Amino acid sequence: MSESMRGTRLGALSYETDARVVPAERMVISYTCPEGHQSLVPFSVEAEEIPFDWTCRCGRAAVRLDTDAPEQKPGRHVRSHWDMLLERRTIKELEELLQERLDLLHEQEGSKPAALRKTA
Ligand SMILES: [Zn+2]
Repeated sequence: MSESMRGTRLGALSYETDARVVPAERMVISYTCPEGHQSLVPFSVEAEEIPFDWTCRCGRAAVRLDTDAPEQKPGRHVRSHWDMLLERRTIKELEELLQERLDLLHEQEGSKPAALRKTA
């Protein structure tokens, strides 16, 4: 408990006995773009999140080949807000929510006729 205030980093000591100077603080991630260019991007080992893709020098999106895409299909499908919404709600729930909001709107607009309301 006495060393709790020390700022010592894990692993900092272990490299002191090594003859070589090891850049312990970094790792290099390789990104490959559709043109076959390789981008080597150094990241801090302490980085909380290594991005899966990187913009290549040619402007294309390069990706890591050493790991799978995070929840992404190769069909370059990008999760939309709608997709995320569907993961939490069913269509039925959404319909009910929508109807609630519509009812509220209609109440607020009071004077307008309900002719625009779509009834299934
Ligand atoms: Zn490229």
